[in-house]
Amino acid sequence: MIPIAKPYLDTSDAQNAYDTILTGWITQGPKVKEFEEKFAEYTGAKHAVALSNCTTALHLAMIVAEIGPEDEVICPSMSYIATANAIRYVGAKTVFAEVNEQYNLDIEDVRSKINARTKAILLVHQIGMPADIAAFKQLCVEHKLILIEDAACAIGSEYQGEKIGVHSDLVCFSFHPRKVITTGDGGMITTSREDFANRMRVLRQHGMSVNDRVRHLSDKVIMEDHVELGYNYRMTDIQAAVGIKQLEKLDLIVTERRKIAEQYLQAFKNIDCIRLPKEENGYRTNWQSFSIYLKPNCPISRDELMQKMLDNKIATRRGIMTSHRETAYKEYCNGLVMPISEDLADRSILLPLYYPMAQEDINTVIVNFIKMITA
Ligand SMILES: *Cc1c(COP(=O)(O)O)cnc(C)c1O
Repeated sequence: MIPIAKPYLDTSDAQNAYDTILTGWITQGPKVKEFEEKFAEYTGAKHAVALSNCTTALHLAMIVAEIGPEDEVICPSMSYIATANAIRYVGAKTVFAEVNEQYNLDIEDVRSKINARTKAILLVHQIGMPADIAAFKQLCVEHKLILIEDAACAIGSEYQGEKIGVHSDLVCFSFHPRKVITTGDGGMITTSREDFANRMRVLRQHGMSVNDRVRHLSDKVIMEDHVELGYNYRMTDIQAAVGIKQLEKLDLIVTERRKIAEQYLQAFKNIDCIRLPKEENGYRTNWQSFSIYLKPNCPISRDELMQKMLDNKIATRRGIMTSHRETAYKEYCNGLVMPISEDLADRSILLPLYYPMAQEDINTVIVNFIKMITA
């Protein structure tokens, strides 16, 4: 069976976790600090704050951006549902906008949904493909909005020659095993704002005024205070130890993923009943997922195609979901119809892509896909 994805973990990840466990310091300690420093260096951001996952990162981003019950935040319905949920955690209203052919937010539809209550735009870099950050930054300046990036899938991707993580003040990443590098579960926020970084470090640890590392190293007794309503959104040092080693492999992983994607693009370029993903100038994706859109003239339905691929021992997945059609949002969205997002979600298929993927398996995917789509 060819799986849809597989994390690239090796003995160096395991050894660093092992060594960390034996130090006796296994949460929110020196390894977390080291991972944060290396992550900031990698992305080019001033600060990086490690968290338990990307969903908690998005929640803290909402809090430091001071988004609350009076506010609206615009995001795509077409995204993993955590994007939309994070807005509701702070009592704000999630407002869905449509996406373009690369599954990224349609700026004109976003513009049409801005009103006096709009406080922020939550921009998703879909399955690793950067959105047009500069255009959205400009829109935010015009309307005095805050830009928050959901870069859950976009570690190692680049926009206008710079790594995702450096372009705005709240960029949220995930290290779930379905992403390009993993710590089991885990998350990170990058920012250039020291006040944001400091507050998020307090919020993630129950609102405590002093962190354990500082208290441990102090030769004076420090009495902590809990300065505001906080959370337990800590990353463990065991996770961070794995993350440090994963980060060292990230460029290799992205390079190799790009070679596989290139093979798919070449092999499928003359099939006219599909639309392939496209990397425009100035955009460099990590290909967290490879999604193909089946045009209406396709001789096979998406669901049939998935089953036939599975019959040939090739796992596929439906494309990116829509949130507004999920049960948790049906009442909330009150019958909202989003034709473009729904069509893209219903007609897209994800193909296997991971490193290392045997050339024989890449060939098997290509041969079977072509056979079934042109039958
Ligand atoms: C995976 C994902 C999340 C959630 O990340 P977790 O680390 O699992 O909380 C949020 N947004 C998007 C776009 C994702 O793909």
